Amino acid sequence: MADLIPYDARDGWIWYDGEFVPWREAKLHVLSHGLHYASCVFEGERAYKGRVFKLREHTQRLIDSGRMLGFEIPYSVQQLEEATVEAIRRNGLSDCYVRPVAWRGSEQMGVSAQRSKIHVAIAVWEWGAYYTDLRLTPALYRRPAPECAPVHSKAAGLYMICTLSKHAAEAKGFGDALMLDYRGYVAETTGANIFLVIDGALHTPIPDCFLNGITRQTVIELAKKRGIPVIERHILPEELARAQEIFVTGTAAEITPVRAIEDTPYQVGPVTRTLIDDFLALTRG
Ligand code: PMP
Repeated sequence: MADLIPYDARDGWIWYDGEFVPWREAKLHVLSHGLHYASCVFEGERAYKGRVFKLREHTQRLIDSGRMLGFEIPYSVQQLEEATVEAIRRNGLSDCYVRPVAWRGSEQMGVSAQRSKIHVAIAVWEWGAYYTDLRLTPALYRRPAPECAPVHSKAAGLYMICTLSKHAAEAKGFGDALMLDYRGYVAETTGANIFLVIDGALHTPIPDCFLNGITRQTVIELAKKRGIPVIERHILPEELARAQEIFVTGTAAEITPVRAIEDTPYQVGPVTRTLIDDFLALTRG
């Protein structure tokens, strides 16, 4: 299985600080600030037939995420987009996942690293369905408050609570964890936004302390085009039982139906099916 090949033992080309390097040589020093202090941001993108879906939005979010961590990525939107397109072409891919990442280098160690160099890399690889038969269980950790962390940045550090929560869910036999926010409202999974279908309307949490996913925004537009009411609001975990359908959205996850939350099963209903069809048409059409 391709996924069992370690990511540093593959072949191809990775764009690294402005040039293409052989995949296995795309290394960094162990004394990198990004590794020790999580001064690191990244993106997750998908290309369909060689074209990255919402490339501009993702590239801008990468730059904005860096600014939220106090650093400026030393490439323009255009340079990053050209590098992305070229990485896909050089690796001979057309349907693939794209992972840009930016981090503080090894010029300084310690909490402060104002003079460190900002590094950027872009890797691409084939990545199939992110979830299969998705069942959720409550997460170990909650999404932090906006006063406690740069919650709108796709910052590596924020994924610490996601990995811990996802590992705990997997250990219990579930596909992912359902994260609440700091107030106890439903937030998202560890890597995707969540939608409930209640009596024909879409209900989704207000993204005030987690990513307003690019897929989430796309699905809201698709629903509105179909005349499906969309209600963004705070959702209590008790309300999940009232939903007839539940699905999650994300670049990797695309639109994935939730089959169960703990012991409560959910059907893949008509609203989810319609939105999946519309999303497929939009991305593959
Ligand atoms: N929340 C989290 C924690 C994520 O990692 C992702 C994936 N980037 C999302 C939501 C969905 O964002 P998007 O649709 O922009 O990929």
